[in-house]
Amino acid sequence: MSESSNKRGIALVLSGPSGVGKDAVREPLLAACPGLRQSISATTRPMRPGERDGVDYHFLTKEDFEAAIRREEFLEYTLYNGNYYGTPAPFAKKELDEGKDLLFKIEVQGALNVKRFFPDAVLVFLVPPSMEVLWKRMTGRGTEDPETQKARFRTAYRELEFASQYDYIVTNGDLNETVEHVRAIYLAEKARIDRSMALVKTLLQEEIQ
Ligand code: 5GP
Repeated sequence: MSESSNKRGIALVLSGPSGVGKDAVREPLLAACPGLRQSISATTRPMRPGERDGVDYHFLTKEDFEAAIRREEFLEYTLYNGNYYGTPAPFAKKELDEGKDLLFKIEVQGALNVKRFFPDAVLVFLVPPSMEVLWKRMTGRGTEDPETQKARFRTAYRELEFASQYDYIVTNGDLNETVEHVRAIYLAEKARIDRSMALVKTLLQEEIQ
């Protein structure tokens, strides 16, 4: 019997203040954790160069997104910088029920809503090594005007205040270390007694001829 058929999958939620570097962590983390798949969110923001529909996001029109809200298809959604972002519920429910582990990369409030929907979700909060580093990362992108940068920086302070509602806090300084740290959390969570007792029960039922 496969391990996954014994237990529910893990909902691993990667979040943290704006600009902390969630995007940079996502791909190497998925590469380092075979068995962990990404939950693909829906959004109404325009596609950026290099992004693919159905891979990075499901890119929807505002009308289609609002219709999906009315059909209660999102387990959480938010308006962020004037665009909708939401986590489709059917895919996540099905995968987790089948014992597959899912990575959600979402902003702070959405992450807490995922926990309301899936109380056994594991919430990881990324923090910058310092606010100075965060400011440099935000302004280093060079894609926003100074007012927008300042507004995002102020938002980051407010978002940091939610950290106490998370399960883990990881400092995102060196990327490799961050990935190792989150991977360690993922592996430890997989081994938790409440997730793994079904495996022991299976072992106990095994008879050697
Ligand atoms: P971006 O436009 O840079 O891809 O994402 C903007 C913000 O929206 C990021 O903080 C990202 O993590 C967040 N986000 C992405 N998908 C979702 C989602 O499904 N729900 C929520 N609440 N936030 C999301």
